[in-house]
Amino acid sequence: MVSGAATQRGALTSMDILNLPYFRAGGVAETKDSFSIKAVVALPNEIAQVSGCPFCSSTAEERVRFGSKAQSFVDAPIRGKHVTVTIDRQRYRCKGCSRTYSQYLPHLNDKRSMTERCIEYICGQAIRRPFSQVAEEVGVSEGTVRGIFGDYIVKMDSERSVETPEWLGIDELKLANHLRCVLSNVKDRKAVDLLPTRDHRTVGSYLSRMADRDRVQVVTMDMWKPYKDLAANIFPNAQVIVDKFHIVRMGNFAVDQVRKDCRTGLTGKDRRKLMHGRFQLFRRANELTDRERLTMELWSAFLPDLRAAYECKESFYRIWDDSRDSVDAYTLYAEWEANIPDQIEYAFRPIKTAVSNWHKEIFAYFTIPATNAYTECLNGIIRVSNRLGRGYSFDVIRAKVLYAGERGDDVSFFEAAVGDQVTNPQELHKSYVWTQEVTRFMESTSKAQNRKQGRQPKNSNHQL
Ligand SMILES: [Zn+2]
Repeated sequence: MVSGAATQRGALTSMDILNLPYFRAGGVAETKDSFSIKAVVALPNEIAQVSGCPFCSSTAEERVRFGSKAQSFVDAPIRGKHVTVTIDRQRYRCKGCSRTYSQYLPHLNDKRSMTERCIEYICGQAIRRPFSQVAEEVGVSEGTVRGIFGDYIVKMDSERSVETPEWLGIDELKLANHLRCVLSNVKDRKAVDLLPTRDHRTVGSYLSRMADRDRVQVVTMDMWKPYKDLAANIFPNAQVIVDKFHIVRMGNFAVDQVRKDCRTGLTGKDRRKLMHGRFQLFRRANELTDRERLTMELWSAFLPDLRAAYECKESFYRIWDDSRDSVDAYTLYAEWEANIPDQIEYAFRPIKTAVSNWHKEIFAYFTIPATNAYTECLNGIIRVSNRLGRGYSFDVIRAKVLYAGERGDDVSFFEAAVGDQVTNPQELHKSYVWTQEVTRFMESTSKAQNRKQGRQPKNSNHQL
């Protein structure tokens, strides 16, 4: 309902409410959750005459008026309410081809029946919030938001230029049941790209198309040979460095192996206790609370192997804490390896194998301390972002990750990718490393249960 008062105040109030050049609000009807604005268009001649017939080459002069048609456009929300703008749009008949067409109007998008600023608003919101929320806020379908965001991705991709990083991070992550490749600029902490698969061909073809490949000095990766081969071929000047986190966390896997084996001989009650306390085994000794330390003491009394495994893991970590250079690190490592207690040696064997196969790349870290910490962190964000918006396509998640920080909004990349849940990148990384360990073990211990429920395991209360 258009109220008399609203119409009377029209001249001033309406201009304010539309605030769109050449459009003037003739009347506003407000309900509990919407504004319907009737707009009058007054185009200056130079704009009105700018476009002629869309079907032939006839100019604006070669046409006659052909009635008008009421059209509605969705506009960006005002004070949390949906907005519809209705105009009486002039139609013309072309003298050249006799076809009819609508008056050209700036600020409106005919494909979407929306104002351009509404489209801009949707893109800005959809990059950091679930589509369903944005759709509800603007008053359009989720499919419309998806379509608009799809166009936005195409536009952003065509405008994107990536600077070849000096330190390139390659990692993979599982997204929608497929392993994808994540490339990052480790030094500048930027996402480089997210590739749909991590296979040799996809990654190789992407990397070989990079400009200034000589620029790459360091490539950090996990211990996956195809990546190492690619790096050697594509970046001949680069030193490959095994990501520190990939190697040190093998210490945690070893402890967990021993924990599982210890569990076999226990009664049900003790087993549950051991399950309950498993995460503290992955913490560093100096991060344990007094209570956790006490629990650990209690275990040590009846599970000496587990205690030994924990100590062995801790001294393995200390190689990374204490070494000044790669020679130092290797000496410490050799010493560590020689002192692994016999009864738990089997659990730490994968580390010995890794070091023997990737010796150079592992210890290169002590010369150039480049890690994939940022890439790892990125992975965490992508996972969370994936969880927030179930059913996003790969392209959408990729765009959310790559373009969230580029909009010049007041929102950092990190916040943007996960919504309001994370603020401090350092905290994020800490909690990510932690969450990752927890997730891994939740997955391994409750796989059957999850399969039954058909969903992803829930994380601990350390959720990002
Ligand atoms: Zn024509």
